[in-house]
Amino acid sequence: MSANQDTFKKIISHSKEYGFIFQSSEIYDGLSAVYDYAQNGVELKNNIKKYWWASMVQMNDNIVGLDSSILMHPKTWKASGHVDAFNDPLIDNKDSKLRYRADVLIEDQITKIESKIQKEINKAKKRFGDSFDEQQFIKTNHRVLDNKKKIDDITKAMKKCFDDDDLVELKKLIDNLGISDPVSGSKNWTEIKQFNLMFSTKIGASSDSASEIYLRPETAQGIFVNFLNVQKSSRKKIPFGIAQIGKAFRNEIIARQFIFRMREFEQMEMQFFVKPGTQSEWYKKWKESRMNWHKSLGISEDNYRFHDHDKLAHYADAACDIEFKFPFGFKELEGIHSRTNFDLTQHESHSGRKLKYFDPEISESYVPYVVETSIGLDRMFLAILSSSYVEEELENDSIRTVLKIPPFLAPQKAAILPLVKKDGLSEYARKIFDNLKIYFNVTFDEKDAIGRRYRRQDAIGTPICITIDHDSIKDDSVTLRFRDSMEQIRISVSKLRSEIDKCTSLSNWLN
Ligand code: ATP
Repeated sequence: MSANQDTFKKIISHSKEYGFIFQSSEIYDGLSAVYDYAQNGVELKNNIKKYWWASMVQMNDNIVGLDSSILMHPKTWKASGHVDAFNDPLIDNKDSKLRYRADVLIEDQITKIESKIQKEINKAKKRFGDSFDEQQFIKTNHRVLDNKKKIDDITKAMKKCFDDDDLVELKKLIDNLGISDPVSGSKNWTEIKQFNLMFSTKIGASSDSASEIYLRPETAQGIFVNFLNVQKSSRKKIPFGIAQIGKAFRNEIIARQFIFRMREFEQMEMQFFVKPGTQSEWYKKWKESRMNWHKSLGISEDNYRFHDHDKLAHYADAACDIEFKFPFGFKELEGIHSRTNFDLTQHESHSGRKLKYFDPEISESYVPYVVETSIGLDRMFLAILSSSYVEEELENDSIRTVLKIPPFLAPQKAAILPLVKKDGLSEYARKIFDNLKIYFNVTFDEKDAIGRRYRRQDAIGTPICITIDHDSIKDDSVTLRFRDSMEQIRISVSKLRSEIDKCTSLSNWLN
C-alpha cells in the first residue's frame, strides 16, 4: 500500500472514531456511496457552508441567495438536457464483474503517466541538488517529453471519441492502452454503454409514466427557473448572481473514494448573469476569485491547480476545474463554467415563458449569459480534513494526531478543562463554559488526565484549550493552550471572549 493510500485509510477511520462521518444505515451494512455527518462532521460542514455563503452573499451586494426545492417539474430536466445527455460511459469487466466509468479508467491511466514524470523530476532534483532547474529539465529531458506526448495523444483521442459520440472508438482506446481492471488486473472488457445518472421517482398516487419525476442532479436549474422572479423581486441589475446550497443526487457508476463521489451530496453553486459578450471577462474574474477563496484558507497552495477543459459540456463555451491534491491524487473540487445562454433559452422554449432581462442602460431586452461556480461541499470537507490531518512526533517520542483545521471552521472553538473535578474547580469551569457558550461552540470535558484531554481536542481540531487550576479560583486567570504550537499562556478570565474571537472569528477571514 502506498503512503498516500495508507494516510487515506487513516483519515477514514479517524472520521468515524472521532464523530465526523459514518456510513449511512451502517447497522444494515451501509448503503454504498451514502454517508452521514456525525456530531463533529455536521459542525465542520455547517462552518464551511457559512464561509462560502458569507463570501458570496454577504460580501457581494450583487449576489443574493435562494433555496429552491429538490423536486422540480420534469420538463426542467428535458430542457436542461439531463434526460437525454446526463450520461456516463459505463464499462464492465467480464471477469471481476466490476463496473467502471470508461473516461475515469483513461484519466487514471493519464495520472499514472503524470506520476512517472514526477518521479523523473524528483530523481533529478536529488541528483543535481541546488543547481537543479526544474523548468529547463521538463523542457529538455526526453523521458519527460515522451510521457508528456503520450498524455497529449491520449487526451486528444478521448476528446475526439466524446465529440463524435463514438463509444466503439472509446473502447478501442481502452484496449490499445492496455488498461486493466485496477482490482483484478483483467483486460476482459464489455462494450461501453451510456448510463443516465438521474434518480427517478413518481409524484402523487398516480402510477402512469406522466407522473415520473427526478431528484435534482444539480442545484443550478432551480436558480435558472427562478431567474426572473429573483431579478424582479430583488430589483438587481445585470451583472448579478444567485447563490444556493443544497442536495443533489446522482446514481454514480463508481462509488469509491469515501465522500469524494457520493450518490447523495451537497453543492454550493452560484450562477452569475451577465450581458452577452462580457462572459469571457466574467469567467476569468470568477476563475481567479474562486482560486483566491481556496487559498485564503491557508492550506498549502501546492494543493491546488487549474485544469482547463478540452471536452466541453453541451452548454459551455469555456470551462475549468479547480483540482485539489486529495490523498488519491489531484481531482476536481470545483467547476467554473461559462454556460452561455443555453439554460435560459432552453427554459424559454420548453415553458413558453419569456426569460429576458430588460437592460435599462441600453434600452434592450436579452437573455443573459451565465458564468457558474459550482463546488461540492462534501469534497471541500474532504479537502479540509485530508490536508489538516497531521501525525506529529513529539519530543518524548510519542505521536499526536492533530487536525489543523482553519480555526474558524473548527467544530469546537474552545474546550474548557478543569484540572481536577474537586476543590470547586469543576463549578468554576462550568461558569466559564456558560458564559462562553452564548458566543461560541465550546465543549466541556473533565474526564481523564489533562494530557489525554488535550489529545482528544487535538484529534477533533479544537484550536484552544482552556485549563482551570487552583490558582484560577484565587486570581481569575486560566491557561490557554494553542492546538498547533502547543504554546501555553496565562490570561485573565475577562479576556477569554476576545482572545477566542481573535483566533476563531469568521470575520477575520472575510476580506
Ligand atoms: P466528476 O467529473 O468528478 O463526476 P462533475 O464534473 O460531474 O464531477 P459537476 O457537475 O461540475 O461535477 O458538479 C460540480 C461539483 O459538484 C463538482 O466539482 C464536485 O465538487 C461536486 N460533485 C459532483 N458529483 C459529485 C459526487 N458524486 N459526489 C460528491 N460531489 C460531487
